[in-house]
Amino acid sequence: MTARITPQPGIMQIDLYQSGKATVDGLSDVVKLSSNENPFGPSEAAQEAFVRAAHELHRYPSTDHAELRQAIAEVHNLDPERIICGAGSDEIIAFLCQAFAGVGDEVLFTEHGFSMYRISALAAGATPVEAKERERVTDVDALLAACTDKTRLVFVANPNNPTGTMIGGNEIARLADGLPPKALLVLDGAYAEYVEGFDGGAGLVDARDNVVMTRTFSKIYGLGGLRIGWGYGPKPLIDILNRVRGPFNLSQAQMAAAIAAVKDQDYVTKCRVENTRLRAWLAEALAELGVPSDTSTANFILARFASEEEAVACDAYLKSQGIIVRLVKGYKLPNCLRITVGDESSCRRVAHAVAGFKEAR
Ligand SMILES: *Cc1c(COP(=O)(O)O)cnc(C)c1O
Repeated sequence: MTARITPQPGIMQIDLYQSGKATVDGLSDVVKLSSNENPFGPSEAAQEAFVRAAHELHRYPSTDHAELRQAIAEVHNLDPERIICGAGSDEIIAFLCQAFAGVGDEVLFTEHGFSMYRISALAAGATPVEAKERERVTDVDALLAACTDKTRLVFVANPNNPTGTMIGGNEIARLADGLPPKALLVLDGAYAEYVEGFDGGAGLVDARDNVVMTRTFSKIYGLGGLRIGWGYGPKPLIDILNRVRGPFNLSQAQMAAAIAAVKDQDYVTKCRVENTRLRAWLAEALAELGVPSDTSTANFILARFASEEEAVACDAYLKSQGIIVRLVKGYKLPNCLRITVGDESSCRRVAHAVAGFKEAR
């Protein structure tokens, strides 16, 4: 890069993204538990819809996503006019920052909050601000105390990644009520489907004018590779987001798969039930080995080790056994490993490997 040609302020503060690894050199039987993917993959209906879409690849996609918004609205009992779709919820997060935060504005999130909040805030020229959590749980008082007259966006993932913890509806409502007038609360519901009966915050969106919810097809729907997400908010705010959204931001194949996926709620239920069962089993198995975790409400657990050294050593040992998990030092949790809840044999493999690691120490 020449010195004459320079990026916008904030851009160079963004570190290049390190994705979860999918392979281990020299090993063939590898299980990837580093990206919170659904071990059972997408519903068959979604796969079939995707294959069918291959016949229409020469056609430009719909620009208003009407059919997908309608399908989402029916399943979740929402107003389709207040839904916006994007290439993953990451894109909705980017739209929010682009539309509502710029140079001199603050974007607030929690200490161990999802990495895209910081990245999208910096990309928009805004200043990222972090509030402390309380023992790896979102702290509403700390968030409210961190608000200033420059705060434009407050991101809270509920359940949170990488902690797996969540806070109750009353706490979220208290946060929405206490925000300064110019601040918008964004409830990131990437893992909402893993919590039985939880609406992800849709009720709060309906009851307030300063709350937006984001959701994704990447987690329980098993469609992370396709990149589909959506947001739900007050109509005037969705209209603003639609101005920064590219008209062709979703392909027809993405929309076709997502429509079939959202209509297959039996599959979602099946995945949730299996995740809940295996998550409890894995958390208990690790706790018995001296590796505790907070009660997780998502599809991963945050395993806590005595030290950063032990977490790094366990990560290396698991890798040698063909198990890829996630070190979360970048999330200020250097003594932890985030482990996605896989299928039954993967969970057994993790427990067996952690036992082997502990024995060898
Ligand atoms: C995985 C995840 C997302 C989803 O990102 P997509 O862009 O929809 O794949 C959003 N928020 C959190 C907290 C996540 O963990």
